[in-house]
Amino acid sequence: LLKELSTLYIAACAGEANPLPPLAIQYPDYAAWQRQWFSGERLQAQSEYWRTALADAPVLLALPTDRPRPPQQSFVGVQMPVRIDAELTCALKRLSQEHGATLFMTILAAWSVVLSRLSGQDDLVIGTPSANRGHRAIEPLIGFFVNTLALRIDLSGEPDTAQLLARVRHSTLEAQAHQDLPFEQVVEIVQPPRRLDHTPLFQVKFAWHNNEIGEWRSPGLEVTSAGLSYDTIKFDLELDLQESSNEIVGDLRYVTALFDRSTIERHIGYLHAMLRAMVTNARQPVTTIELLAPTERELLLQTWNATERTYPVHLCLHQLFEAQVECTADATALVYEDQTLSYAELNARANRLAHQLIELGVKPDARVAICMERSPAMIVGLMAILKAGGAYIPLDLAYAGERLAYILADAAPTIVLADAAGHAALGNAISASQTVLDPNTLPQQSTINPQVPGLTSDHLAYVIYTSGSTGLPKGVMVKHHSIVNYATHIAQQFDVETGGDSLILTSLSFDLTLTSLYPPLICGRAIRLCPDGNDSSVWRQYVLDGRNLSPVKLTPSHLTLLQQILPAYTLDGHIRALIIGGETLKGSALTWWREHAPSMRIFNHYGPTEATVGCIVYEVSELLATTIPIGRPISNTRIYLLDTHGQPVPLGAVGELYIGGAGVAHGYLNRPELTAERFLPDPFSAAPQARMYKTGDLARYLPDGNLEFLGRNDHQVKIRGFRIEPGEIEAQLVAHPQVRDAVVAALGEGSDKRLVAYVVAEPDPQLASTLRAHVTACLPEYMVPVAFVQLDAFPLTLNGKLDRQALPTPDGDAFAHQT
Ligand code: AMP
Ligand code: MG
Repeated sequence: LLKELSTLYIAACAGEANPLPPLAIQYPDYAAWQRQWFSGERLQAQSEYWRTALADAPVLLALPTDRPRPPQQSFVGVQMPVRIDAELTCALKRLSQEHGATLFMTILAAWSVVLSRLSGQDDLVIGTPSANRGHRAIEPLIGFFVNTLALRIDLSGEPDTAQLLARVRHSTLEAQAHQDLPFEQVVEIVQPPRRLDHTPLFQVKFAWHNNEIGEWRSPGLEVTSAGLSYDTIKFDLELDLQESSNEIVGDLRYVTALFDRSTIERHIGYLHAMLRAMVTNARQPVTTIELLAPTERELLLQTWNATERTYPVHLCLHQLFEAQVECTADATALVYEDQTLSYAELNARANRLAHQLIELGVKPDARVAICMERSPAMIVGLMAILKAGGAYIPLDLAYAGERLAYILADAAPTIVLADAAGHAALGNAISASQTVLDPNTLPQQSTINPQVPGLTSDHLAYVIYTSGSTGLPKGVMVKHHSIVNYATHIAQQFDVETGGDSLILTSLSFDLTLTSLYPPLICGRAIRLCPDGNDSSVWRQYVLDGRNLSPVKLTPSHLTLLQQILPAYTLDGHIRALIIGGETLKGSALTWWREHAPSMRIFNHYGPTEATVGCIVYEVSELLATTIPIGRPISNTRIYLLDTHGQPVPLGAVGELYIGGAGVAHGYLNRPELTAERFLPDPFSAAPQARMYKTGDLARYLPDGNLEFLGRNDHQVKIRGFRIEPGEIEAQLVAHPQVRDAVVAALGEGSDKRLVAYVVAEPDPQLASTLRAHVTACLPEYMVPVAFVQLDAFPLTLNGKLDRQALPTPDGDAFAHQT
């Protein structure tokens, strides 16, 4: 066009007639020809191609956005310049030639890897315009020929640059060979779910401008190109590039509703890093290429993990307690109903039992089981086992006999501490070779602290069993120095020293209870034991009797329970620090507490048993409507968010959470393979032999460095190709005024898999329809559950977590009438 314009201009200046040759055909001729040519078998073949090529393609390229996607797509965008210098451009050309690819293909390959790392997806669709002027005769025509091609890129496995270029070349050539089918017909054929919040088939566009704008020389006229900037955009991201004076230049345009400028700047940096790595070594698997800039890597791996603090690393847990006995011998250590024990009394009793355990052969790392009611004698028993150098294994009275028998057989302790209730629960699970002692009747032994030869903080303190995915529980072995680091941190962060007593409501067989057990005992405070039993009035009494209780540790499910049984007058002054952990904490669960106990400190605490109780913590300051972040790592803890290839994910992207540092457990008892699978060498730590635990949890960093928990990587559901986090739906359900709590589960398999919502709400026959409308109004259609089941309360597991297995199958009432 420029050529024609300049020819005409020159001719007009010289007063000459139109020198352009007459057009052989006109646009309508082309249109008529195309309609006839592109029909029948040709049309069929191309339709078939696109149907197959885009079958089950991901509906959305889920890039991490700085803000949630607005329900209606926003078309406001701005651009950021991209420039690839002559040297890299030259190297890219060489690389492309070597692999029979065009520059377009090479950059597309690099850009796909970047998008894949950002989204965690290895199957991407990227749109590209094609000029579609494949015939000489139509080149000079004025008219709309451009079509859009949806290029599907397969990044699965571990391709290197050479293999990836081959894949990209193949998809590009195939798509180009079928470029006659107009894009809107492709959409009609593929039938992706249509949404108002994003474009169909692809949301990222990459355009390569081949025809360099020629120079326009005319007498008396100087022509330069002006960079146009416009503020509209059709897709989430649009990369527009072209070659110009041996460089590659252009821009990356982005939707301002979704992305911040700094984020886009990082994206461009990743693209550069990727291109550089590709030209450096075409044989390196693209999954291992480092995309992050040194500053970003430093921030993620070091700055946010700079948690080193000194702690008594060489002392055992009971030694910290013994040191405290020296300082506060007469202070109360334990309160249970009307009994109290001073530090000196608790220590003396534990010593008497410990000496006997030593006589019976307990040595460092020897395992001793303990199965008792919550009582002072139970605490004496725990301390005695530790003092004797052993590792205790807490057994819950409420466990089924089969489970107790399995654990006893797996852990094979030679000694079992049990009271009458424990004895009854264990029944004939105890073998003849096992000695049973009742800590309620203490032996006539010395009350002096025993000295165990060879015992160090590198020996085991306890083994706690957690459920295993294979159906059998597995014992997590935790060493003294790990629990010492944890208890020390908790004591400091939660001001345990200056607080009131701590309150122990939950079972000692779950490590969450340890948060309120050991920290007080290493800094001179008292623990209040709430007696066993499910009678919630007892919990109520213990909370209301408390003054400045610090800390109280609960799961979110417990929180709802407590809220229901506590009186609705001000609770301020009863609890000083409430630590909530074990499950996702939603802002809505805290509203009541904020209202009735405004000065109580509330913490969200995250951690698996395998990393010693808890390793990340967040103090709730403002109430967020959605999920509460889990926060930052505790002392001497390192957190990594890695992709499936073990690479740190970019800032804001979702990764699997790995935990390194002092809390990493020794491993699983008797399970070397499982231990090797989940406890890995820590490649990011400078400490020798550092290990990290692979949690299976998904998380991302918020811009301020706080972590956000996003569910399990094994709970995530896929329905019709959609990646769904049930938590997102739950948050929307809970946002409805009639819903107190909600859980969404996927029932069924494969294409029969359906989302079902379970809600705790006021009974209402219309609820299913109401909620369907509510959810439909705020979430994509694919996230709308097919059924809404009303429950009085959620089924809980023994440790107070939601029992997904026990959620009922929905019946007729749960299905909203579709309108
Ligand atoms: P457990 O070993 O029983 O403590 O369970 C650990 C698992 O519970 C973690 O891997 C998470 O999946 C989940 N979890 C623990 N704490 C939290 C929390 N604060 N928020 C969300 N999930 C949590
Ligand atoms: Mg935990």
